[in-house]
Amino acid sequence: NPASLVQVLFNLGEMVTATQSVSDATLQLLGDEMNYTVQIVSPEEEDRELLESFDIEFGEDEGGEEALVSRPPVVTVMGHVDHGKTRLLDAIRKTNVIEGEAGGITQHIGAYQVSTEVNGEDRRITFIDTPGHEAFTAMRARGAKSTDIAILVVAANDGVMPQTVEALNHAKAADVPIVVAVNKIDVEGADPAKVRGQLTEFGLVAEEYGGDTMFVDISAKQGTNIEGLLEAVILTADATLDLRANPHQAAQGIAIEAHLDRGRGAVATVLVQRGTLRVGDTMVAGDAYGRVRAMLDDAGRNVQVATPAMPVLVQGLTNVPGAGDNFLVVGEDRTARQIAEKRAARERNAAFAKRTRRVSMEDLDKVLAAGEIQQLNLIIKGDASGSVEALEASLLQLDVGEGVDLRVLHRGVGAVTETDIDLAAGSDAIVLGFNVRAEGRATQAAEREGVDVRYYSVIYQAIEEIEAALKGLLKPEY
Ligand code: GDP
Repeated sequence: NPASLVQVLFNLGEMVTATQSVSDATLQLLGDEMNYTVQIVSPEEEDRELLESFDIEFGEDEGGEEALVSRPPVVTVMGHVDHGKTRLLDAIRKTNVIEGEAGGITQHIGAYQVSTEVNGEDRRITFIDTPGHEAFTAMRARGAKSTDIAILVVAANDGVMPQTVEALNHAKAADVPIVVAVNKIDVEGADPAKVRGQLTEFGLVAEEYGGDTMFVDISAKQGTNIEGLLEAVILTADATLDLRANPHQAAQGIAIEAHLDRGRGAVATVLVQRGTLRVGDTMVAGDAYGRVRAMLDDAGRNVQVATPAMPVLVQGLTNVPGAGDNFLVVGEDRTARQIAEKRAARERNAAFAKRTRRVSMEDLDKVLAAGEIQQLNLIIKGDASGSVEALEASLLQLDVGEGVDLRVLHRGVGAVTETDIDLAAGSDAIVLGFNVRAEGRATQAAEREGVDVRYYSVIYQAIEEIEAALKGLLKPEY
């Protein structure tokens, strides 16, 4: 039970409370001491095990070599701010809409597909429409591999900048080949050769210098050489990657973005990575599930099927999945619901573990005794400046204990706001509301962040309760 674990850890020299999260190392120590084998499992492994318990394998194409058919590459545009990522994504989209789409109303769904002719063949490329490596990294952090090739945009008048290096390091870490777009060649002072020289230092050596990275000089503004860039993407993909998938299986892939639409409910843009997604399929995406009611492509047209590397906007999910969450089609509604519910429960547990790490009134005395904090931070909100000041003055006279400071980080008149909660979460503070309540969003944020918010209507009650908490005499509320 928790109390004996606390005791064992105490004997090992670790001061913890029963509701506190501990490090992996501490867990291992605890396991050794109690003769248990502790296995640390990443969220991705945990999810794989969950799916396996339903006899589902995620991320593998079924049917072996013969079942594989080539698919378009998926590309992310990265680079330093203002070097032209957004402009480039617009230029590509405008000049290369897929035949027959002209006249359709462009929908920004988070990704789009274009076609280009390479060596007399019609080839397609999928672009993730959110520029920058934040999105890329966020997805990767969730274990999702969303991108086959990265276009690194470098402005020829500016050269390599800090975020250029950051972006290329992200791509390298993910083992994603890079095509360099040397942009803004129309600008005076543009020096494409210099960019090539600079990037050599980072291991990106241009083909014309004997390396194996393709550099393409472009102007996103004037639409110069966009075709050349697309060709370079296809050639790089053909030379370094084996992009094939089985289109004849239950669809799997990742969610790229999702939101709640007033009329349509939860909508999510998903990128099919293998299999074919059809209207009517039952899918689970992150902790959302449902039957695909309708699908829209990037031109805003209703489509019935989506094949590998095709992004589509899906309607019919129960709620909104996160960017980078995987999705998969399952045979039965019940399976989808069960997987979604298990994932949701896991999320809640994770949120709870995070939550209980924050300082709360209940374990204040233990946290202080363990020396985990040297400073007790408070935020005071009240209905009038007089009462706020009075409360603060009395609190500052409390005996907090040796070597501990009581600090009022922020005080103010009015309801407890989301900003107050953010401040509290960032600095491990407890929020006191005197004759005021919290705004709805603030309550949700406090819940999510695990911030302890206490309400009082009589000053001495507030003082008494905090005194009791400091001495470990506070009675739990539940
Ligand atoms: P991002 O921050 O990388 O997405 O950069 P933007 O696409 O927003 O571009 C930043 C600025 O550079 C904008 O004012 C663009 O119009 C301009 N810009 C982008 N590409 C070019 C180009 O090829 N030539 C010129 N002259 N300006 C460009």
